[in-house]
Amino acid sequence: MRIVLLGAPGSGKGTQSQRLVERLGIPQISTGDLLRAAVARGTELGRAAKEAMDGGRLVDDALVLDMIRERLGEPDARRGFILDGFPRNLAQAHALERLLATLHKPLDAVVQLEVDYGELARRIAGRRTCADCGRVFNLLTSPPAANETCPRSGTPHRLIQRPDDNEATVAERLRVYDEKTRPLIDFYRARGLLKVINAEGDVEEVTRRLAQALAALTPLKRRRAKAARPVRPAKRRKPAAKHSRKAKPALRRPPAARRGQHGRAGRGSRGSRGSRR
Ligand code: ADP
Repeated sequence: MRIVLLGAPGSGKGTQSQRLVERLGIPQISTGDLLRAAVARGTELGRAAKEAMDGGRLVDDALVLDMIRERLGEPDARRGFILDGFPRNLAQAHALERLLATLHKPLDAVVQLEVDYGELARRIAGRRTCADCGRVFNLLTSPPAANETCPRSGTPHRLIQRPDDNEATVAERLRVYDEKTRPLIDFYRARGLLKVINAEGDVEEVTRRLAQALAALTPLKRRRAKAARPVRPAKRRKPAAKHSRKAKPALRRPPAARRGQHGRAGRGSRGSRGSRR
């Protein structure tokens, strides 16, 4: 499954992605996490990204796109992925669409996590991350359980606050979200990919809503897969053709039809999907 989680800072994209990773067995790809790792390692990318991140602005598209192209090429992303924090503006969304089209792996869904602005600010103020395992907690809503230990260090989680979770930067991040990222809602709605869920309330409850929104995709995919194998049963019906002389050409037709249908459907459907976008 290839999905994008869309939502303002503090809407729970990271928390819900981590939960989906366990359920779906596909990786979470968070551009924010990748950029923070680059900053921590002091790489060239990290140095270039740091100023924008500290100011709550978006990092240069070209840098983010190079990073995402490389990450999507890694083996664990072959079976699917959850994109968290990417794309973040229309240019990135178009670039992602082109990239996935060349890989013949279009998105299955984009889920928007809806949260009221007052709630976003409250959540961000309480947000803490374990410095060792990277798990996200919230002092107000989802603190670590008593006696809980970090799977990396084996000691209690070492909770730190992200440097860009201060009041001034948060205000700028919310403004940037409204200006640059919010238009993606219409972009993906127009492509029939958008699902909106209420992301307020209990974390577990939000996960349930998210799983429900995504579960609707699976039977649909199965139905499509079945529909793509329509000619096979005809082969099994061969004996019935014995009753008619006209059966001979009919028997010869299905394999040809099958070849034609398969070839055209395979390439044509992708092509038409691509051209619609
Ligand atoms: P949040 O969703 O809470 O703002 P993230 O961890 O996703 O946090 O991102 C942190 C910062 O990293 C952003 O404010 C921005 O500076 C940078 N960033 C993350 N993803 C992108 C992206 N796709 N394009 C540009 N900048 C990004």
